[in-house]
Amino acid sequence: MSTGRPDRKSRTAAFWRRACTALAAAVFAVTAQLPVTSAQAGPAKLHVVATTSMIADAARQVGGEEVRVRGLMGPGIDPHAYRQTRTDIAAMTRADLVLWHGLYLEAQLEEFMHKLAQRRSVVAVAESLPKDRLLRHDDYANQYDPHVWMDPQMWTGVVAAVRDALIAARPNARATFEANAARHIAEVEALAAYAADTLRSVPEQTRYLVTAHDAFNYFGRAYGFEVIGIQGISTESEAGLNRIAELVSLLVEKNVGAVFVESSVSDRNVRALIEGAAARGHKVSIGGELFSDAMGADGTYEGSYVGMLDHNVTTITHALGGTAPARSMNSRLSAGS
Ligand SMILES: [Zn+2]
Repeated sequence: MSTGRPDRKSRTAAFWRRACTALAAAVFAVTAQLPVTSAQAGPAKLHVVATTSMIADAARQVGGEEVRVRGLMGPGIDPHAYRQTRTDIAAMTRADLVLWHGLYLEAQLEEFMHKLAQRRSVVAVAESLPKDRLLRHDDYANQYDPHVWMDPQMWTGVVAAVRDALIAARPNARATFEANAARHIAEVEALAAYAADTLRSVPEQTRYLVTAHDAFNYFGRAYGFEVIGIQGISTESEAGLNRIAELVSLLVEKNVGAVFVESSVSDRNVRALIEGAAARGHKVSIGGELFSDAMGADGTYEGSYVGMLDHNVTTITHALGGTAPARSMNSRLSAGS
């Protein structure tokens, strides 16, 4: 029955219709002002989980606004020993894409990742590097040395693998991923050029890089340093007393004056080395802290891949008698680095 006047129910409906139209217009006005990063971008961000902080950084650089990246291993975390937590498992099983390093770096995650790969998109980004560019190591009979990020030129290959994995997961954002990857690869190549120039200033007779564990072989190959890790390639192995004695002799013979500690490895062995050398009348100092298997604190320059390597290059150059700008390539190192 019509009374000629809208009843209470239809007035309420009209109110909600107007409210919804106004809300839709407001949402449209807001979204219309957001930067459009890809012509056909989907509405939701691609959820990416990355194991190491270096891979998480590459995924953010390449993914830009298209992705939301969760890194599992924060500053100071050792990937060789890392085991997945319940929260990690939940994040990985829900993610659109899981990126891990591979080459047996995340030794404790290996089994879980292979299982997860049967039902989710899981990509081991370092395993796409050409095998003839990978180094072998005495400690790992049938494995390669996983620490490829120590050579920026090698890392550009990993950035390319991250780009390809993102494109496979979200093909309609290909142009965005390709542009971002090209920009980031150019940055990493600039870093490689800075490293080559700067490290060349270190006198040849002092090009010995003695560190807590054997993470710097790719660095050594790229820049002509002899690299000596007190522990083996994985932090799981213990340095024996014989190993320490052998390295003390080497420091004395080669007159190496500085050794380095690492942010993600205990400095116990480095200190044993310094004491051993002192007992033989040879002074060795700590040349600084290097980032080996994890980046610096989130939100700092050293908490980015470029910042991490820039810090290492600059610290090594200063400690071993070369010349580098006081605050590095981008003048962004924290004071005291
Ligand atoms: Zn390592």
